[in-house]
Amino acid sequence: MPLTIKKARRINELPPYLFAEIDRRKRQALSQGVDLIDLGIGDPDIPTPSVVVEKLLEGASKPANHRYPNSSGMLEFREAVANWYKSRFNVKLDPGTEVVSLIGSKEGIGNMAVAFVDPGDVVLVASPCYPVYHIGTSFSGGKNFFLPLKRENHFLPDLDAIPPDIAKQAKLLWINYPNNPTAAVADKTFFERVVEFAKRYNVIVCNDAAYTEMGYDGYRPMSFLEVEGGREVGIEFHSLSKTFNMTGWRIGMAVGNPELVGGLAQAKSNLDSGIFQAIQEAGSEALRLGDQIVEPSRNIYQERRDILVDGLRAVGLQCDKPRATFYVWVSCPRGLSSADFTAKLLDEAGVVTTPGNGFGEAGEGYVRFTVCVDKERLREVAERIRRVKL
Ligand SMILES: *Cc1c(COP(=O)(O)O)cnc(C)c1O
Repeated sequence: MPLTIKKARRINELPPYLFAEIDRRKRQALSQGVDLIDLGIGDPDIPTPSVVVEKLLEGASKPANHRYPNSSGMLEFREAVANWYKSRFNVKLDPGTEVVSLIGSKEGIGNMAVAFVDPGDVVLVASPCYPVYHIGTSFSGGKNFFLPLKRENHFLPDLDAIPPDIAKQAKLLWINYPNNPTAAVADKTFFERVVEFAKRYNVIVCNDAAYTEMGYDGYRPMSFLEVEGGREVGIEFHSLSKTFNMTGWRIGMAVGNPELVGGLAQAKSNLDSGIFQAIQEAGSEALRLGDQIVEPSRNIYQERRDILVDGLRAVGLQCDKPRATFYVWVSCPRGLSSADFTAKLLDEAGVVTTPGNGFGEAGEGYVRFTVCVDKERLREVAERIRRVKL
């Protein structure tokens, strides 16, 4: 008798995978030899700085690094994080209690719900958003309440529109600025309003700060912990992935209120055994070098952003020029849904993008482009779209 295998309800109840159709069409086009320009995924094409790679090679040959790491991270790495926060944001952190290493921030974001969400708890999440926030809630049996991000509100959630009975039940609020997928940024006033909301309703604030280093034209996004009260109500997730072109390495960190950092670390210590120490040593070096190695890629992304935005506008598409992130959030031409527009771009221009509604219902009407290909290819994008009948 073959086994009857039934997946857990949490898996069976996952929302349908909205990118599946795009994936299928993309594979089909590739198999037909179409020269695709892939602006679908947010994954830097620029290699990790070689000094960081050198550190890994050096660390890999040390026998002390071949043993189990500590789940919360080596002191060396946590100190490097604390020093970086001090020099970059003027935020002083205790490496022992206010910093935990993550196997990429995605891991920590998912485990935040393991640590803090009970069945029935309400979690406030933006729509559209990076999906892990609400998937984490669902896996823990919590209930997501979605906050629509609208252009008229500069893609910031309207906290005053949250019904008070929902706010009272809320356990966590997820925010993410600079934002994926809308590329919106938050100012100090918004963060102050978030602190006030969190204190009024006793809500934990989780800020995903993955893109603070990808700011352009001299703009330097702030940390949520910089605002008064931020470090009392909040935990901030950060990552070396986007900052140092290290998505494949899997290293990030969470910092902030020691009870929140400690709770997350407790959940993690029961589930994982940390990050290969050689990677932590290399990550520490990246943080020590900081802007010295970030600046070159920031300049590349900024130039690419200009090429893409100017090109898209020249063919009549509507988008804001992002002040940060490597995304461009483009309105669908009149009469086309996100799915229609994405399909048209793929079929008629060989350009892969991501439909906005894949990030949540409120993303309908938009398509996300990334700038993770070189500038010659990006110039070609507008040329190709010009030939499409929109
Ligand atoms: C890329 C991304 C992450 C994940 O980063 P890792 O550290 O590689 O897991 C987290 N949040 C947002 C918004 C992202 O775009």
